[in-house]
Amino acid sequence: AGGGRTNPLHDPNAQGGAWRRLRCLQNHFSASSPVSDPLVIFSKIVKRFGEFVAVQHLNLEIHPGEFVAIMGPSGCGKTTTLRMLAGLEQPSEGEIRISGRRMNEVSPSERDTPMVWQSLALFPFLNVVQNVEFGLKMRRVDATTQHRKALEWLERLGIAEFAKRDVSLLSGGQRQRVALARALVTEPEILLLDEPLSALDAHLVIHMQGVLTRLQKELGITFVYVTHSQSEAFAMADRVVIMNEGAVMQIGTPQAVYRSPAHRFVAEFVGTNNILSGTAQSTNAGVLSLQTELGGFRVQPSAGQSVAEGASCSFVIGADHILLTSEAEALENRIPCSLISEQFVGSVVTLYFETASGVEFRVQKQQRELDALNLQ
Ligand code: ATP
Repeated sequence: AGGGRTNPLHDPNAQGGAWRRLRCLQNHFSASSPVSDPLVIFSKIVKRFGEFVAVQHLNLEIHPGEFVAIMGPSGCGKTTTLRMLAGLEQPSEGEIRISGRRMNEVSPSERDTPMVWQSLALFPFLNVVQNVEFGLKMRRVDATTQHRKALEWLERLGIAEFAKRDVSLLSGGQRQRVALARALVTEPEILLLDEPLSALDAHLVIHMQGVLTRLQKELGITFVYVTHSQSEAFAMADRVVIMNEGAVMQIGTPQAVYRSPAHRFVAEFVGTNNILSGTAQSTNAGVLSLQTELGGFRVQPSAGQSVAEGASCSFVIGADHILLTSEAEALENRIPCSLISEQFVGSVVTLYFETASGVEFRVQKQQRELDALNLQ
């Protein structure tokens, strides 16, 4: 969350809670110190269902105005984590705090943490504006204010023209905006989103990702977003939490997780990296020499990682960090291989190579670089 953003959609003189928070955030982040107190703290959280451990020892701090995506394969504990934050599940161990207050025993209705789901759950018997008014009705806001605020939010989300329409007559993207308006109309401090785009078609997903990130940055609301999609998390989040089998494998910016995966699982999950295994031989000036089935390699361990001599370890070679050349004899970290196939994905091409022993390598190049290479 940065200071100094302007908001073309909003009336800056409005006195809504979100605006007050945005101004507060701007003050918070514009000064010399970018550090803020965490808004949410998960401390040593364990969640069991009977004998089964769905979440194990989760420690996570989320700062005001952050967009945090929790991702991982199906069943890894993402939704359970989100539901604990919403108060829909109670932790078996540990503590959850929001704004410094212990929340373990606080009911969902007493929390300022609305949730947007994949299945939307709009009320079919209410029209669009009535659906949005509903959140305020539950808070006993008077009818005139309910209506005014609901229309304001429909306007902000670009769907005011459908205010009177039956929700069953909207497209998927329009329904998603109604669900967002209904969650945001109460101007919560934290919005929880559980795979909200997974029912939309690919084109609409990209569009809605833009809508969501813009809205989040403009309002300064903290988003906690669950997804199994790496591309979705990387496209939107300030930080990502990667989970597997209930445990957090890594927390970091998308760039850090992509470039310096802390586990083999993370490297495989983020997908576009090549992974090689070998035996550590020696370290010289911070550079580790390794012996692999493809010969010797010299690699730079990530900050804070040390590898003992003789230890087995794996390392990643970013698909976009590979030089393709037919004159490589003098270079180190060399992998002789043949081109098997290529896949065109917009301006970038993914090339698949294979070594003589059958190890596959993925390389990503800009189309114009490839044109110059003239590979066969
Ligand atoms: P998906 O992407 O498929 O939604 P997820 O990462 O969100 O997966 P969770 O819904 O958090 O996974 O579930 C984590 C594990 O806990 C799963 O194995 C699930 O079957 C189990 N689980 C979740 N809720 C319950 C429950 N109420 N009772 C028993 N087991 C549960």
